[in-house]
Parts: sequence; C-alpha cells; structure tokens
Amino acid sequence: MFVKSTNIFEVEHKVTREQRWARNGHKAAVVWFTGLSASGKSTLAIRLEQRLFDLGHQVYVLDGDNMRRKLCADLGFSAHDREENIRRIGEVAALFAESGQIVISAFISPYRADRALARRAVGDNFHEIYLSADVEICARRDPKGLYAKARKGEIDNLTGVSAPYEVPKTPDLTIDTGTLSVDESLDILVDYVMRNMALSGD
Ligand code: ADP
Repeated sequence: MFVKSTNIFEVEHKVTREQRWARNGHKAAVVWFTGLSASGKSTLAIRLEQRLFDLGHQVYVLDGDNMRRKLCADLGFSAHDREENIRRIGEVAALFAESGQIVISAFISPYRADRALARRAVGDNFHEIYLSADVEICARRDPKGLYAKARKGEIDNLTGVSAPYEVPKTPDLTIDTGTLSVDESLDILVDYVMRNMALSGD
C-alpha cells in the first residue's frame, strides 16, 4: 500500500514475541472467521472467547459491527470500502496478535484477495476458519433481519444475495455451521485452538 508519510521510524521492541508467548502460556494468533451473514461468526466468536478466557488464555474478539461504528465509520459496503475495511481490521488484528493475544475476528470478509491481505498483515499465525452454511439456512435464521430487508429491496448489497461471497479455496479449517449445533462447532474450535496455539513441549 502507498505510504504518504516520510521520515517514519519503527520502534525496536526489546520484548520478543516468544517472551510474550511464554508468559501467556500459549502462542498468539489470529483466528479469522469468514462466512455469510448468519453463518455463526459472532455467536461462535463470543462463545470461543469466553471458553478460552476461562482456560486462562489472552483472547479478544474483533467484531464487524463494532469496527464499523468506530474505526471504519467512514466506510460503506462498496467493493472498495469492503476492501479498506478488511485492510484496517487485518492491521488491527496483527497488532493485537503482536501484543500476545489470540484474536478472534468475526467479519464476513467476502473477497479472497482481502483475506489474503489480512493473512499477509498477520504472517504465520493466521488461521482462516470458514463457517460454511448455505444461504438458504442463513436466510431462515436471519437473526439481524438482513435477509428479510434484502427481500423487500431495502438492502441492495447483501453478501450471498446481491453481493458476491468467494468461498475460501484452502481454509485452515471448515466448520459446517449449517448442520452442526453451536456446541458441536465450539468443541471443534476449542480443539483446533488448543492444538495450534500450544507452545511446543506442552
Ligand atoms: P453472523 O455473525 O455470522 O452474522 P450470528 O452469530 O449473528 O451470525 O448468527 C448465527 C445464528 O445461527 C444464531 O442465531 C445462532 O444461534 C444460530 N446457529 C445455529 N447453529 C449454529 C452454529 N453451528 N454455529 C453458530 N451459530 C449457529
């Protein structure tokens, strides 16, 4: 990305990421959920955060609606604005992960290129988790009433209905949230995190 400022100098941290991991007792990472609206991102993010917190982990959820009201309040839902939204979130997630947290991000993030950008911002410890649920199932659940609004013509760029969703080609994990229960999905996630964020020798 083009950087406007000149004469910028990065600070050199004396605390290494491995030192942060050792203190926390686990690696830091970004657990990046992607999936349609109503596929279960917020539900599973909040449940996973609680479960990991109870296990003593450093964990924090970045949620779509929160980010859009603040850091990304100037952005809408055009392809360009969605890209910029995910770019900013990727950078925020990378910073949180640098600080030692397990970051759970819950954004539709419909475009492959944007998810790849977030992965690049974060580096090795980026885990793309595809929450796979058919649009028909999501539309039936419709906890935010978005699919109903789209049917009435009140929203014209709903992902999976009138805006594209690019299914991940090689996600790190896929969970069939269309057929599994919340608890079953959560168990798969907790197991995944425990295996992938353990320090070697644990
Ligand atoms: P999103 O954040 O992806 O828009 P939400 O978490 O807000 O989705 O809504 C998902 C809805 O689907 C909730 O009402 C939740 O109870 C329900 N649900 C049913 N099965 C699952 C599952 N396996 N995982 C997550 N949510 C599920």
